[in-house]
Amino acid sequence: MGQSTTKGAFRIAVGGFALESVSFLPQLTGLGDFEREARRGAELSEGLAGTATVAGGFLGVLDAAGAEVLPLVYTDCSAAGSASDEAFEHFRDELLAGLRQAAPLDGLLLFLHGAMTTPERPDPEGNLLAALRREVGPGLPIMVAFDLHANLSPRTAELCTALFGFHFSPHVDMAETGARAARCLLARLAGRQDPQLAMVKVPVVLPSIFTATGLAPLSEIVAESLALPERSAGIIDASVFCGFAYADTPDLGFSVAVVSDGDLALARAEASDLAQRVWDRRAALLHEGLVEDLDGGIAKARDLARRADGPVVLLEHADRLNDSTWCLRRLIAENDGLAVHCPYLWDPETAAAAVAVGVGSRLAVALGGKSSERAGGPIAVEAEVLWAGEKVFTGKGPMRRGRRIDLGPAALLRIGKVTVSVISNSTTAIDLDALEQFGIDFAEQDIVLLRSKTHFRAVYEPLAAAIVIVDTPDWGTAELTQLPYRLAPSGLFPLDREAEWQGAEAPNESHEKQAQQGDD
Ligand SMILES: [Zn+2]
Repeated sequence: MGQSTTKGAFRIAVGGFALESVSFLPQLTGLGDFEREARRGAELSEGLAGTATVAGGFLGVLDAAGAEVLPLVYTDCSAAGSASDEAFEHFRDELLAGLRQAAPLDGLLLFLHGAMTTPERPDPEGNLLAALRREVGPGLPIMVAFDLHANLSPRTAELCTALFGFHFSPHVDMAETGARAARCLLARLAGRQDPQLAMVKVPVVLPSIFTATGLAPLSEIVAESLALPERSAGIIDASVFCGFAYADTPDLGFSVAVVSDGDLALARAEASDLAQRVWDRRAALLHEGLVEDLDGGIAKARDLARRADGPVVLLEHADRLNDSTWCLRRLIAENDGLAVHCPYLWDPETAAAAVAVGVGSRLAVALGGKSSERAGGPIAVEAEVLWAGEKVFTGKGPMRRGRRIDLGPAALLRIGKVTVSVISNSTTAIDLDALEQFGIDFAEQDIVLLRSKTHFRAVYEPLAAAIVIVDTPDWGTAELTQLPYRLAPSGLFPLDREAEWQGAEAPNESHEKQAQQGDD
């Protein structure tokens, strides 16, 4: 794919630079972290084809249309601490150099998360787009696919030709979002569409745990966005962005983006209407009753596990680095015969120690809880090593299909009736790969302890007898007033329960006017 040069075919550059930054975490996401996930050349244009990634969607549409793909660089570190400024500058410069090399171009397709922060940059995507726009000039179409959890800045909307967001969380439509962006780009290049983008911000932000798009009323608002292009012939696409509460930025919160065909006023009107619906439903969007405290959640999970036919999923959702020990410590200390499994506990030290002693050995470990003072501290226990080694495999789950998953040195440990897989490269257990790769049968467990926010629902919601969500003091707490925001704007619900909003503000300027601006 993308290797043969079809005469007259559109030349489309494809790239990606994505991270959902938990600004409050002490660890930065560095060059090495992005490099481990980076795909270039044929690794991008062929290796990501057919995968569940945004790039998979870009490439499928471009390939079917006979377009020529110019692969830049594509890296996605999912969720972790802020990117280092060094890493940001490295990948910005690599994307710029790639564009120069790929010229002349007809268009650019990008995947950005929209909630990246760096120590020096509260809006890195805006900085990046400003630099890219300066490089390619005002006329080249730049279509960007963003995560549903983007904190979009007005500048970002001004610099894109059009932007598209995942409709769902769990993000089962990442590839389809890429495909929407690619189809719109090709239609614009063929002169069949004249995409006009309007973006409206709404002063509402939700803890990620409440952004599952299956939960009403968010499900209804998303359904309204999906119905828009069907209801209105002039609308090409609509996206509702929930924002990401754990990135500290002046752009924190919801936004709505609508792309119309040649009619900016229509796009603005529809975006304002959808934004107003978000604002009107803000109290109902905050599902505070869904979350238990630690004592209540552990007791409820145990009680349900004893009575239920199938496993109970206990969700320690506030953990942002897959190593917090608030629930695991209790499940080990107070174990009363229930089979408990905890997949993907991030603990490189314990994993290395287990690999060193080998299968069948017992060793004293300080398990997890090391990432920050909010992670609950390590659990001192003796564990038996059931399996140990390097763990690399190809993902099978709905969001990771076709992706190479490298957990690094890893081990399966047993502590009484509790089994724990420890891993060296932090990733969140969202599908059954996390269990099956270590020979664990979900159906045989009484309690499975997960740390996902919404993505686990795609696989576990239909399988689990019950889901019990526990809030802990970690950096992803549902109690947003506990977070040390410095840059978040005032008047944001629910940080300010009395917040008021006058409706959509003045429309954003066109990207042409902004092309020569930007500080980066
Ligand atoms: Zn997301």
